[in-house]
Amino acid sequence: MKKLLALVALTLISQPALAEEAPKWSLAIHGGAGTLDPKAMTPEKRAAYEADLQRALDAGSKILAEGGAAMDAIKAAIVIMEDSPLFNAGKGAVFTWDGTNELDASIMDGRDRSAGAVAGVKTVRNPILLADTVRTQSEHVFLVGKGAEDFAVSKGFAVTPPEYFATEARREALERLKAEKLSALDVDHKFGTVGAVALDQSGNMAAGTSTGGMTGKRWGRVGDAPMIGAGTYADNRACAVSATGWGEFFIRVGVAHEICAALRAARFQAATIAGPDAELHDQWLPGENYAQEVADTVMEDVAKLGGDGGVILVTPEGEAIFSFNTTGMYRGRATSAGVREVAIFGGEEKASATPDH
Ligand code: ASP
Repeated sequence: MKKLLALVALTLISQPALAEEAPKWSLAIHGGAGTLDPKAMTPEKRAAYEADLQRALDAGSKILAEGGAAMDAIKAAIVIMEDSPLFNAGKGAVFTWDGTNELDASIMDGRDRSAGAVAGVKTVRNPILLADTVRTQSEHVFLVGKGAEDFAVSKGFAVTPPEYFATEARREALERLKAEKLSALDVDHKFGTVGAVALDQSGNMAAGTSTGGMTGKRWGRVGDAPMIGAGTYADNRACAVSATGWGEFFIRVGVAHEICAALRAARFQAATIAGPDAELHDQWLPGENYAQEVADTVMEDVAKLGGDGGVILVTPEGEAIFSFNTTGMYRGRATSAGVREVAIFGGEEKASATPDH
């Protein structure tokens, strides 16, 4: 009995320490933001979107829960959404004015800020993997068009026939845009770009974004998604961000870098003021909602210029955050603290039934 009591006491004493030390991980994904009308969404359509978001979330969070790398987790999640015809990335990408599908993607590793990006590619099934190959197997950051496709072939990527990317719904959107002289926003209603950000158990972060751009784009138009600093940014010292929205405004604000820079500045200030005093350092660190406030402020800035859309981010503390100034954003998040949710419209976060990995 004595022995048993001693064991219980020991467990009680050691538990808080163990809980504190448990390594954190977190993941957030998006499948585009926009003017989403709950009434226009059939239960079947909603279930299909939620199922694909859930699959992407599960694939990434399984890797993180098992101790895998943030970089692997975001690629696994993004590839699933690129392969789904529901999102504007890979298969299901929007059409250009000329009736083609031109794909953009970027990826960044928060450990060393190595980055890769591609724009205007038409024959690569998973542009996020090509962006990653630019990051790891070239001395460049950003490759475009035919050059990017030649690079892909030289690295062993299969040439995907352009018809693979085409879907009827997206073709109709282009036809309507032309016939009724509409803007991309009128026909798309939402930005279906996909993205993922992750923090792994080693404290490393990564971000990636992949898109078909905006319906009816012409003259080689490229948005923010493949631009490091605008649509994608990752820095272990601050955060990892992926954006979706009206690309021109996100480029002008430099959204992803702006958020990371503000978060890094706050940490830098805490470290400078506190010096080696750890307690003082913690006092000066921004409070719990700081990252959310920073993301919201930057999104307000986008809105002030006339743009809309949203961002996802993770922080070194393990937060997984959404911020959007549209009525909805296809999104999901999972963390080591037990958060598991996918959501579409504003304010409807709900825990999903996915068991812990
Ligand atoms: N940001 C993308 C672009 O401007 C569009 C999107 O998010 O769907 O190309």
